[in-house]
Amino acid sequence: MAQDNHQIRVFKFGGASVKDAAAVRNVASILRKYSGEKIVVVISAMGKTTNALEVIHQARFHGNDYKQDVAALKAFHVSIAKDLGLEGDEKLKSLYDQFDHFDEVLASPCSRQFDMEYDQLVCYGELFSTALVHSFLHQEKMSTHWLDVRQIIRTDNRFRDARINWEHSTANIGQLLHAFEKKDIVVVQGFIGSTSVGLSTTLGREGSDFTAAIMAYLLNAQDVTIWKDVPGMLNADPKWFKDTVKLDKISFREAIELAYYGASVIHPKTIKPLQNKNIPLYIKSFIQPDAEGSVIQESMDQDHLVPSYIFKANQVLISITPKDFSFIVEDNLKEIFDLLAQLGIRISLMENSAISFSICTDKDSYKLESLFDALRQSYQVRYNEDLTLITVRHWDDKTLQMLTSGKEVLLEQRSRQTVRMVVR
Ligand code: ASP
Ligand code: MG
Repeated sequence: MAQDNHQIRVFKFGGASVKDAAAVRNVASILRKYSGEKIVVVISAMGKTTNALEVIHQARFHGNDYKQDVAALKAFHVSIAKDLGLEGDEKLKSLYDQFDHFDEVLASPCSRQFDMEYDQLVCYGELFSTALVHSFLHQEKMSTHWLDVRQIIRTDNRFRDARINWEHSTANIGQLLHAFEKKDIVVVQGFIGSTSVGLSTTLGREGSDFTAAIMAYLLNAQDVTIWKDVPGMLNADPKWFKDTVKLDKISFREAIELAYYGASVIHPKTIKPLQNKNIPLYIKSFIQPDAEGSVIQESMDQDHLVPSYIFKANQVLISITPKDFSFIVEDNLKEIFDLLAQLGIRISLMENSAISFSICTDKDSYKLESLFDALRQSYQVRYNEDLTLITVRHWDDKTLQMLTSGKEVLLEQRSRQTVRMVVR
């Protein structure tokens, strides 16, 4: 079905934008501004629900008691529903149906497959939240349909990090188009999918942004809007800096670079499907929905206007030197890379000289101990911890000075667009 659906838009609301009754009312008021348009609304689990489900999964997997946690999680959802005026069995039916399915999973025997069991349970955060939001929109007389996105998004069975089967998912999209024949809003879950045999899967933490991009790709949608608690894409994390600047317009390419270096505003996998179909991505504030926000699109003409900087804390800088003082050559590198790949250690920056090879990586003590053990026979391994990796895109001297003042720079790499520094 190579059909263009330029009239369909995709909105994504994350956990913070549905964390309580007031937040859900706000979602409805944003949707009302777009009434008459066809919108796929992708919603995450409410507030910290995914974390709570992870705790329940752990307890169930290890045979510990989790009844209280389950009761608290249900009570949290029911109290939001009641605050929204959803009372009585009929209005709460969709939510209670999901509770029943959830209870069935809890009651079923737990296999020894940790990641598989995780996905069967943790997917309920999004099922609860969408059931609840849909019921509220319905009560508000909005034209809405609830759809189980697992019927559309087909994945492989790499649980907790499932890969999309684009071909099968595309074949399933007719259901969604069908729903739009009768309704304006179709509410779906972020973060989840299902395998060919109908097991639930998840796409990785914070994966709902990616779901929005998948939906847009499958539908050839007009655009995607991610509604956030920040005014748009900022040039630095407001948790670290108070003088941040909004990037009004940046390219897909720049957004991929920023996400790769660790900018946390959007999930890194989100951009690629949109870039492939040239579908613009808006980032807007759900607190000030009429404000301009940011747009990520094809043109690169504004990318260089504002330096962006990204901080990655908790880094370790490791230097690896052959014990016999021979040079570092391809044979050594191959051996080292094989080990890194086996242990799943991600390199955030690397450098080699004649006699040593250095990598900067996240501090994961367990993985690093295994790496050191494997290397120690033939190499001398030294490391510094508690470091920060700073990446500056479109740097200028003033920004670099500001970022490094009072800090010791252990390693620096410069290219025309990007400076990366490991600092203490
Ligand atoms: N609920 C999931 C999480 O918290 C997915 C998301 O929020 O995007 O990771
Ligand atoms: Mg979340």
